[in-house]
Amino acid sequence: MASDFVIVYHRQPYEEVEENGKTVFRENASPNGIVPTLKSFFGKAEHGAWIAWKLAEDPSNPGFERVVEIDDAYGKYAVSRLPLTAEQVSSFYHITSKEAFWPILHSFKGKYNYDPVDWPTFREVNWAFAEAAASEASEGARVWVHDYNLWLVPGYLRQMRPDLIISFFHHTPFPAADMFNVLPWRKEIVESLLACDIVGFHIPRYAANFLSVARSLLDVDVLQRQQVDPDLISEGTALTERTVPTLIAYQDRQIAISSSGVGVSVEFIEERAKDPVFRKQAAEVRENMGDSQLILSVGRTDYTKGGIEQLESFERVLQDNSDLRGKVRLMHVSVSANRNMTAYEDIQSGIEETAGRINGRFGTLEWQPIALISRAIPFDDLIKYYLAADIAWITPLADGMNLVCKEYVAARTDNDGVLVLSEFAGAAVELSSAVITNPFSSRSMDLAILQALEMPLEERRTRMTNLRRMVKRFSITAWGTDQEAEFEQARTRRQKG
Ligand code: UDP
Repeated sequence: MASDFVIVYHRQPYEEVEENGKTVFRENASPNGIVPTLKSFFGKAEHGAWIAWKLAEDPSNPGFERVVEIDDAYGKYAVSRLPLTAEQVSSFYHITSKEAFWPILHSFKGKYNYDPVDWPTFREVNWAFAEAAASEASEGARVWVHDYNLWLVPGYLRQMRPDLIISFFHHTPFPAADMFNVLPWRKEIVESLLACDIVGFHIPRYAANFLSVARSLLDVDVLQRQQVDPDLISEGTALTERTVPTLIAYQDRQIAISSSGVGVSVEFIEERAKDPVFRKQAAEVRENMGDSQLILSVGRTDYTKGGIEQLESFERVLQDNSDLRGKVRLMHVSVSANRNMTAYEDIQSGIEETAGRINGRFGTLEWQPIALISRAIPFDDLIKYYLAADIAWITPLADGMNLVCKEYVAARTDNDGVLVLSEFAGAAVELSSAVITNPFSSRSMDLAILQALEMPLEERRTRMTNLRRMVKRFSITAWGTDQEAEFEQARTRRQKG
């Protein structure tokens, strides 16, 4: 059955598990996160399709179930799975996307690794995604492509199906031309993006950067530019932008540029935060802390997340403020993924070494300054730490948005707790009432965490109230509504044009 709404996202929208020798598709339990929000769009479509990849030992095996029909709480939709070999996955995802694109998107030129990239494989995989989307989409369907590992899909899809309304959303930062143009495939990528009806970003700065990149390579005109929402303008954050392009033209096409930040499911988190079971668990965490303050840091083990820089700040603060020893603990959750990649292994050992040194320097039998956790903590457990933590310390060097900080704020229905946030996280544009810090400055980092540790109750409440207003305003629901409006406007432009 053809679909009027197609999502192209590299991961499958459910967990595929074996139960008693049978394959079962288990829905992701938590409505928090991007996948359930994307699936909720199927509720408003006649029939939806989702295109993802699935590892296949032999992609030509006739037993490989290419398309499965799912019927879950979100309605009926087809999931089209591209069979990819381990070599294709490694080349397109782990090498080209993670070793070449990821560092450039996050402005780490030094980590950019061109040598192992096999560009023909990247093209081939993206072509296969486009073909799968083209074969699922009905006449004039909306197709929504996600993230940089599928950058070439819009261009291919447009060649195959000029009738489609194509939108592309970036979940990462998007850098300016001086950085982006390190990529030798820059023009091919940008031309593909300009084949879209809508190109989406989290914040106005990334949209502005995209325009600068496009203009450095091609003749692109700006048709509309808007003032940025005053709630997103703050003197104190590096990523603030005052005006933003919203409609551009390339050749005979118009392309909307949308800036709307992904948020969290506030209702879901608040419900948990108010649940007596979670409150009791949080109280137990607090009781074990005695009169010490708890600082919580949660992120993936990635050089973009600034884990080592943060630990070094904690070390300096303990060094310079002996009164804090025994009075403060840092729970540093750094979830290691991509275990087989050198860049990530180096960061993991750097974090372990630094945390070990700090515990060795300052720890006693009764008190360890850092609890380092490298495993992923289930979301329901994170909630109790969000509720118990005096401070959430979130200081990435670069981060498209950062949802952990929004989850912390959403959980604090008590209007207490302090958020210390890097000005280089996309979320800082919305959350300027946090204690904003520059993670490239030791002084700024140290002062920010000291300010948070000493902050009086009244100031904590004022800041948290403001933060909560923003997290509610820019929730995941609001993001979904924005995206829907963009699709509607694109359809209207098509009908007029
Ligand atoms: N997360 C989790 N357990 C952990 C660490 C993180 O469930 O131990 C979740 C967290 O709740 C958040 C997501 O992983 O929803 C991380 O999103 P974020 O945007 O902060 O960072 P990303 O990893 O996408 O760069």
